[in-house]
Amino acid sequence: MMQAEDAALLAKIRARGLVQPDLRAVASQLYESQARADHLWRLVDQDWVIAEPMLRATRCPACQSHEMLAHERCPNCRCANLLTQPLYHHIPCAGIFEFQGQIEDLAQCPKCKSALNQEQDRIELAGQIYHCLDCAQRFPEPVIEFWCLPCNQSHRLEAVSFHRLYAFRLSEAGELALRRHHSE
Ligand SMILES: [Zn+2]
Ligand SMILES: [Zn+2]
Ligand SMILES: [Zn+2]
Repeated sequence: MMQAEDAALLAKIRARGLVQPDLRAVASQLYESQARADHLWRLVDQDWVIAEPMLRATRCPACQSHEMLAHERCPNCRCANLLTQPLYHHIPCAGIFEFQGQIEDLAQCPKCKSALNQEQDRIELAGQIYHCLDCAQRFPEPVIEFWCLPCNQSHRLEAVSFHRLYAFRLSEAGELALRRHHSE
């Protein structure tokens, strides 16, 4: 026999199609107040609701919020004053070089000095390199950190944990049980 509060939540899930996490709420109140996580999981245990992993998201170690912004820092001086430069590969000489602008305009390979006109197919994009405009270092990868919007502070990757967040939808059994409940 279905409880009235279960029927109310099932009807709400049916109306929405999918109840998703509220990513602006702290982890303990991730779903709206009418849809508490423990209640949703009880309905999953009854087979009335199906839980679908939606994303594996960062959670702030200080305030438990999922509202975090990934950002890049210089691995040397930790500033944010970075830009990227494309890297090219000259296939005949295996040279890798940086070049900003239209690669078609490059007259000769900066590595082997051979003329490049008419042979642009011998040049391929080979990724990018970071420049720090504060400390002048160059590096292939920046440090990634997460800025928590509610805390207004940055957390290192090692301090942040990742958690699976689920979306919930009505199962066929839930649909039938809800109809039976309303016709009783
Ligand atoms: Zn926080
Ligand atoms: Zn730097
Ligand atoms: Zn070359």
